[in-house]
Amino acid sequence: MKLEKVLIANRGEIALRILRACRQLGLKTVAIHSTADKDLMHVKLADESICIGPAAAKDSYLNIPAIIAAAEATGASAIHPGYGFLSENADFAEMVEKSGFIFIGPTADTIRLMGDKVSAKKAMQRNGVPCVPGSAGALGDDIVENKRLASEIGYPIIIKASGGGGGRGMRVVRNENELENSIALTRREADMFFNNPAVYMEKFLENPRHIEFQVLSDGQGHAVYLGERDCSMQRRNQKVLEEAPAPFITAEQRKTIGESCAQACIDIGYRGAGTFEFLYEDGEFYFIEMNTRVQVEHPVTEMITGIDIVREMINVCAGMPLSIKQSNVKIKGHAFECRINAENPKTFLPSPGEITWLHIPGGPGVRWDSHIYQNYRVPPYYDSLVGKLIVHDDDRESARLRALEALNELILDGIQSNIPLHKDLLTDPVEIKGGASIHYLEQKLEAQN
Ligand code: ADP
Repeated sequence: MKLEKVLIANRGEIALRILRACRQLGLKTVAIHSTADKDLMHVKLADESICIGPAAAKDSYLNIPAIIAAAEATGASAIHPGYGFLSENADFAEMVEKSGFIFIGPTADTIRLMGDKVSAKKAMQRNGVPCVPGSAGALGDDIVENKRLASEIGYPIIIKASGGGGGRGMRVVRNENELENSIALTRREADMFFNNPAVYMEKFLENPRHIEFQVLSDGQGHAVYLGERDCSMQRRNQKVLEEAPAPFITAEQRKTIGESCAQACIDIGYRGAGTFEFLYEDGEFYFIEMNTRVQVEHPVTEMITGIDIVREMINVCAGMPLSIKQSNVKIKGHAFECRINAENPKTFLPSPGEITWLHIPGGPGVRWDSHIYQNYRVPPYYDSLVGKLIVHDDDRESARLRALEALNELILDGIQSNIPLHKDLLTDPVEIKGGASIHYLEQKLEAQN
């Protein structure tokens, strides 16, 4: 099908980001929304909009028949899933394609392959992507064998659900006495939550950083890597502050890991934008999972490479070959992204409500990706992300100072936000130095309480 009209199956800032990319490509847009979201910015800007259900996500943004019906009713040619919601749902991707629409993402089979952590890891190993040492596949029931395997890997180890996601279905095991019980418990959870009792074993890394590689691939034998991001500043597995490139990662490491990721994309016939997530400890990278969609933090990579990731993913998913060669990818300067959430900065409880005053920062190297506007009412039903403040400058320290200045200029009244947390973080000596582990932010917050 020829790409002419794109239905945006998402909400909030990413829906607006997709709309902007479509506009630039001369594509018509359809916004779908719940009854709670009729005032969203992209709904106002889209060529057409259609209400697909009530506020609860399960009845609207996760309602596959309603979304397909909306695409049919509006004559859309493609569906962009954004992130979250149905973006990594293989059944949705399959239904979209079976209904005759282009899915702006990889094929359903690729999503399935990467959604299963055991099969994903096998595909990575085949292509030389370094993985966390662990079991060769799913664990069997032979406890003697499992004990042997665990002591070979060395404690602590982690038992993970093959079908797991969202930080659930994982259990750390510190000694042999706990092993049998932990496998049984994780297996039961995995069966209950993910409908898949398969679990596997990995070495547990005590103090890793989270570093991820962005790729673009056309499913026609071409793939590029766009360098890496450091997303170690996390709270409860939620990223808070991201940056690119990752501090202290050498050009040689970037090339070695990036090339293996691009190779893996070619091998699995990957189509679209994707991210290979790694834990990084003692100078080594360990693959943990692939995200088969555009990510929240994609702008930091756009800022340092000058490549419009959303535009590229739309083009390659519409069947065009990748327009970028690896030799064209140049990393310039440094970028940070502060996720601005509508939440209490101390308790982290959501803070929905009306934005009574909004002032958006500006100046060179400052980017604001957000759907909010003055007098917009943040609904209580969805994720608390209300905007992303992204800054770019020649080097990390200048970018950090630019981020601080932009945060000082950002005014968001009427609701509470985590702006104070970002100001605190960007003046923290450990953050100033760079390279903190994934546990740093939680330890810092605990020490403040
Ligand atoms: P999910 O799909 O649920 O997000 P991941 O495999 O991405 O699961 O892991 C989520 C988080 O769990 C990681 O970011 C990391 O903090 C922790 N984790 C996962 N595997 C390991 C490991 N082998 N060692 C240490 N921490 C791990």
